[in-house]
Amino acid sequence: MALPKNAYFQGKIVPYSDAKVGVGTHALHYGTAVFGGLRGYWNEEQKKLFVFRPMDHYRRFLQSCRLLCIDLPHTPESLTQLTLDLLRVDGYQEDIYIRPLAYKADEQIGVRLHDLKDELTVFALPFGLYLKNPTAVHVTISSWRRVDDNTIPARGKVAGAYANSSLIKTDAHRAGFDDALVLTNEGHISEGSAMNVFMVRDGMLITPPVTDNILEGITRRTVMELARVELGLTVVERPIDRTEVYICDELLLTGTAVQVAAVTKVDHRPVGNGVMGPVGEKLRQLFDDVVRGRNAKYAHWNVEV
Ligand code: PMP
Repeated sequence: MALPKNAYFQGKIVPYSDAKVGVGTHALHYGTAVFGGLRGYWNEEQKKLFVFRPMDHYRRFLQSCRLLCIDLPHTPESLTQLTLDLLRVDGYQEDIYIRPLAYKADEQIGVRLHDLKDELTVFALPFGLYLKNPTAVHVTISSWRRVDDNTIPARGKVAGAYANSSLIKTDAHRAGFDDALVLTNEGHISEGSAMNVFMVRDGMLITPPVTDNILEGITRRTVMELARVELGLTVVERPIDRTEVYICDELLLTGTAVQVAAVTKVDHRPVGNGVMGPVGEKLRQLFDDVVRGRNAKYAHWNVEV
């Protein structure tokens, strides 16, 4: 994977190789950081780079900051502006991933959130597919449980909580699966290692509620709206039992990295008839048109660099 060209670091844009922290940095030891993940999409016909829903991403980012008592002198507007400034210096003409990170920056021993200095960094790098075959994903049900709201809140993108996601992902990968769905402590489907989940059952699009230890995904929100408005589907947020995903008609993963992917096998059982279904196919196409600026109705979600 290519390295980023530049980074916003300690208040200015510097070459990425100059954006360095000490090994004693608090966030490195205690996971006391929060991050975001945005995508920029290159539109080849228009020769333009579009950042997808940056204001929504930065609203959630600042909410994550609040959960970890990180105080940044920023608004969603100023973070969007800073990102656009960085991307103009970078000059990418391809699809990219943008990573903002807010972290406890003191080089100090001591477990806490208070009386520590908060810092912000943002960088971007070229980025393509996250899952190798997004139209035929094979998942398992992880033996790990999702972090609980009373353990580390999953609705915040807390760095430390990604040890949980990493356990889920690596064990699935080593067992030969592409990814895994993870259960809440109550045994309901929560989400994937770094993506939300939807199933199609009885003609409805169903996704776990925000109270089932999910990250409140921007892609999830996008797909819910596109499904309702463009496909006329009923979208329901309700707990999903483990065995429902063995018998549903379609199963989808959504996220900035994974975009919209179709799961065609769960634990070696075919989903539906084992190939991507019509809802997945339509949502994938719609999503791609929207994020690349080919759908005027949703142009307000794309911010041109
Ligand atoms: N869940 C988790 C745990 C994630 O890390 C992500 C990726 N940010 C998502 C869901 C999807 O969220 P979004 O659509 O905002 O990228």
